[in-house]
Amino acid sequence: MNNEHSSHPLRTHPTKPIISVRNLKKYFPVKKGLLIKRVTGSIKAVDDVSFDVQAGETLGVVGESGCGKSTLGRTLLRLYEPTGGEILIDGIDLASLKPQELVKQRKSMQMIFQDPYASINPRLTVASIIAEPLRIHRGLSGTETRDRVAELMRLVELNPKFLNRYPHEFSGGQRQRIGIARALALNPKVVICDEPISALDVSIQAQVINLLGELQQRLGLTYVFISHDLSMVRHISTRIAVMYLGRIVEIADRKSLFAAPRHPYSQALLSAVCVPDPKRSNSNEIILEGDPPNPARPPSGCRFNTRCPFAFERCLREEPELTPRADGHLAACHLERTTLEDFKGRFSE
Ligand code: SF4
Repeated sequence: MNNEHSSHPLRTHPTKPIISVRNLKKYFPVKKGLLIKRVTGSIKAVDDVSFDVQAGETLGVVGESGCGKSTLGRTLLRLYEPTGGEILIDGIDLASLKPQELVKQRKSMQMIFQDPYASINPRLTVASIIAEPLRIHRGLSGTETRDRVAELMRLVELNPKFLNRYPHEFSGGQRQRIGIARALALNPKVVICDEPISALDVSIQAQVINLLGELQQRLGLTYVFISHDLSMVRHISTRIAVMYLGRIVEIADRKSLFAAPRHPYSQALLSAVCVPDPKRSNSNEIILEGDPPNPARPPSGCRFNTRCPFAFERCLREEPELTPRADGHLAACHLERTTLEDFKGRFSE
């Protein structure tokens, strides 16, 4: 790792991170024309995103639908080719690897997908699904593969005697466990969890979250946990990154973020977290006016300026950088400090 990286202003932890993302971009071309398609612009789904993740921690990534969080997860694994930037995993830049080298390095980083049924082949048995990465990356014998599959099934609390069954014979929660077992087959260090519980019944969401927590403890995993479910993110994360329109606007320790979000968008987003007591209404909730702008034509300056009650002249022309603040948060806002009370006061004006 070069000196520029080790002294980066976003480096808030003294030890070397396992994931270090710098200036990551993923743009999708916008094409027009009936026969001859012309590129007329681009959707900046991930735009200049930088963050670190320490080994063994969980970085939650939250934001409204379309903010770029799932694209970020896929770009980290190069399931989408990055448009620019660096993705350092244990010091190796995945973004610059050639395809063959990338296949080798992918072992250390795996993904758990949102919809377990869509992400596994329904015509394969559970044994074949879980064994697929083992066949690609490891030259195990038939018996060794079967033993490893049984071991992985026990790890995710599935009975190995069902290894010859097909996905449709399992419940949604069990299918997600199959997806988790497959993701863990090659002993990855980092797992990207892309909305891993949102397709599941509420009754089994907690079971899958608890399983992910236990596996993290047992195997020393590092998670990037992408979700729109703020309560779940709050439960599982060590730190949380808030995304808006392709950019990270705030990163902070979980408790500190929920206690005192610093960025005006985080304040609005987190104010909507459900109050667990049905007798209490969520009187703090701030409903943001308007929809997020079109990502193909983001506003100039701060991207939140069309919805932010604090916006002032500088916000319209200058995009704020993510910078460290006195309370340990990283925030991208021209104002040094705003509070939820300030926000509510402004919003009701
Ligand atoms: Fe609001 Fe300006 Fe801060 Fe953006 S930079 S969040 S518009 S105050």
